[in-house]
Amino acid sequence: MSSLDWPPLRAALVGEEPYGAPQLDVAVQLNTNENPYGPSPEAAADIAEAVREVALGLNRYPDRAASRLRSAIGELHGVGPEQVFAANGSNEVLQTLLLTYGGPGRTAAVFEPTYALHSHLSRVTGTTVVEGERNAEYGIDTAEIDRVVTESQPDVVFLCSPNNPTGRVEPREVVEYAIAAAPGLVVVDEAYGQFADWSALELLRDDLPLVVTRTFSKTWSMAGARLGYLVGPAWLVEELTNVVLPYHLDVFKQLAGTLAVGFVDEMHARVATLREERGRLVARLSSLDVDVTPSDANFVLFRPRGRAADDVWQDLVDRSVLVRNCSSWPRLEGCLRVTVGTTEEDNQFLSALEEALSS
Ligand code: PMP
Repeated sequence: MSSLDWPPLRAALVGEEPYGAPQLDVAVQLNTNENPYGPSPEAAADIAEAVREVALGLNRYPDRAASRLRSAIGELHGVGPEQVFAANGSNEVLQTLLLTYGGPGRTAAVFEPTYALHSHLSRVTGTTVVEGERNAEYGIDTAEIDRVVTESQPDVVFLCSPNNPTGRVEPREVVEYAIAAAPGLVVVDEAYGQFADWSALELLRDDLPLVVTRTFSKTWSMAGARLGYLVGPAWLVEELTNVVLPYHLDVFKQLAGTLAVGFVDEMHARVATLREERGRLVARLSSLDVDVTPSDANFVLFRPRGRAADDVWQDLVDRSVLVRNCSSWPRLEGCLRVTVGTTEEDNQFLSALEEALSS
């Protein structure tokens, strides 16, 4: 495609690459940390029936405030709807936060390696990114938090627990330390929060600029619905409402989310199954010629020892198994990340990997 040199692109976007994992049509897809199990059949049936009903009312705009959905999510967490902001995936929640509290002349801090969208969305919204470094175990040292805060006084600090793509839960003391040190907003991205043994939701207070983001894309088995949310102080949710587009949540999504919340026990059962399967996957992986990073989430980062990660990745694709190739990402040289799938999928992955490592 040819491109003109006008109209000039915003300076912040020059050189920026679109974010996204390859979507290849292979049998075993273990590259985007989705749930390998669908929602419960009862939830799917309820959603299908409700969609049929609302389809007849499509001439009207959806509830702009998404009141039922936000109340249902609020009940899950023991807060009112005024403390819940929902959007099209937690990515849109993160973008709205940056449009509200980041922007030109402002700074967001991330601790690398972490979820790439935190820095990507910061740059796209014109927010300057400051990078803190994780230690050798991919944890965050308090001295590093001090350094980043002292040097750049970030308007927004991103934490991620469990951290994608490395997998560990951020200890409570570290999150508390960051909150105390940060001069502005702290965002704890808990896209995989149901796998953790604690949640920063416990730290929310009305007088604290702290928000916790969650998604329906992983544990809830609803990545296709594009729904995420945050819980935070009511005054902050109100600020976000000024920024996000009116009617951004369509009727189908609002319904699907509201009904899904009624199946929370089934969701937790899927999490328990995946946790157990992760244990089996990690044990088998550890017996192969790879370095495995311990994980608290539904994915595992590993580094083949004897062969280049790019070659192993391609060999896996050739055997119809897709994992995430992180080897070109800063600080993750030689690394691949596999999502915990069904036992069958993981077995296919493991035998393909065994073959790839010995070829
Ligand atoms: N945060 C983290 C840490 C993630 O890994 C992801 C998905 N890759 C998201 C947020 C975004 O999820 P979604 O937009 O589907 O809610």
